[in-house]
Amino acid sequence: MPETDDTTGDLPTEPPERAALRAEARAFLEAHAEPLLEADPWEVAGFPDEEEAHAYFERGRSWQRTLAEHGWAGLTWPEEYGGRGLPGWATRIFAEESARFGSHAGFIRASMAMLGPTLLEWGTDEQKRRFLPTMLSGEVAWCQLFSEPGAGSDLAGLAARAVLDGDEFVVDGQKVWNSSAQFCEWGFLLVRTDPDAPKHQGISFLLVDMSSPGIEVRPLVQANGSAHFNEVFLSGVRIPADQLVGDLHGGWGPARAVLAKEAGFIGGSGGGKRTTDRLVDLARRFGRLDDPVVRQGIARTHSRERIVALMGQRLRDVVRSGGPPPFDPALTKVFASDSKVHTGQLAAAIAGAAATASGPDIDPVVRWVQAEVINRYSISIGGGTTEVQKNNLGERSLGLPREPRSDKDVPWRDVPRS
Ligand SMILES: Cc1cc2nc3c(=O)[nH]c(=O)nc-3n(C[C@H](O)[C@H](O)[C@H](O)COP(=O)(O)OP(=O)(O)OC[C@H]3O[C@@H](n4cnc5c(N)ncnc54)[C@H](O)[C@@H]3O)c2cc1C
Repeated sequence: MPETDDTTGDLPTEPPERAALRAEARAFLEAHAEPLLEADPWEVAGFPDEEEAHAYFERGRSWQRTLAEHGWAGLTWPEEYGGRGLPGWATRIFAEESARFGSHAGFIRASMAMLGPTLLEWGTDEQKRRFLPTMLSGEVAWCQLFSEPGAGSDLAGLAARAVLDGDEFVVDGQKVWNSSAQFCEWGFLLVRTDPDAPKHQGISFLLVDMSSPGIEVRPLVQANGSAHFNEVFLSGVRIPADQLVGDLHGGWGPARAVLAKEAGFIGGSGGGKRTTDRLVDLARRFGRLDDPVVRQGIARTHSRERIVALMGQRLRDVVRSGGPPPFDPALTKVFASDSKVHTGQLAAAIAGAAATASGPDIDPVVRWVQAEVINRYSISIGGGTTEVQKNNLGERSLGLPREPRSDKDVPWRDVPRS
């Protein structure tokens, strides 16, 4: 539904082309998507069972394929690369209509939001033609190969090494915390190509086929038994030079584009009504609906979710129509992260001792509470920690003095590392 006018409560009249697209979207969704009421409200994405986790990933891919087959993938991407070439409002209309349905592309949507616009901005024509259509159709899923054991917040300190040998790069190194890498066909990878340059200036951005010889993906099993992340080891992996994105040693540009999109995506995806709805349902199940402290907490969740959704919408609308971001995208991520911490604590407080249950036959509601508690920190770490985002906000948005940097003009190879 179109947003109501906050001052009058009336539905605004939509220009005919937007109303037509809305009707088209609604017809498509009603024919193909799972209605929200039929979707399991307590579904969690972290599965202890690898087969179940893989099936969940593939359900996301299958929905992405359906979107692409019916012309609903890449609404704003150029037609020549499989998109529909529509203005930014088309994505908003489709998102509004989709809110009544449970179908989603899951991880594929996140990696597409990071890499798609980056390739559109930094890729060659050949790379765009080769990689964007299969990304949109879900045929090829992409994982992010950035973090290393010694390079997370200080990403530019990364040590995975690539040496140009004829028309191929030869890569050696280790990546870590790579979400869903065990299920992805391709990865976008940061490597050091010039160790003699200062750290930001000797990095290159490569696209790599995950089935290349020399790549080993090892899932990392977490406390709840699921393996969201992986370690990825690269030993003598040969990558064709035409899979370099941007300039040789100039990978920090596209890397920053990915990080900005990631922060915006994580921040913007926290909105919606469903967490509030679930907390209300949870409070009802545990007989806490009349508890004034719980009610206050739910009201706070609702307000914060609404604010995050509006921030995300404003950001997307302006950026898609070609304008500069109205505020630093890191702001939405910091705000959404704080909200998630609050939601996790509230869910645990409502469920009380029941939240400590364990075993294979655990009540799905309790499993959801536990996932909320465990995952409340993932958003404040993944895509750049809250502390680092706050540093960036201080420097970029508030004009505060930069953090002291002792390694600014020092060749990367001379910077002390742990
Ligand atoms: C859910 C999730 C998904 C992820 N997915 C991926 C992925 O797909 N691909 C990938 O490459 N990586 C991924 N990551 C890794 C993520 O990018 C890193 O965990 C993150 O950048 C932090 O790095 P680190 O873990 O090495 O922590 P560190 O950088 O070692 O930080 C440790 C602590 O020190 C603080 N700190 C560090 N520097 C500063 C500073 N300058 N000022 C103040 N405090 C500071 C941090 O805030 C943190 O609290 C994921 C992480 C999570 C949680």
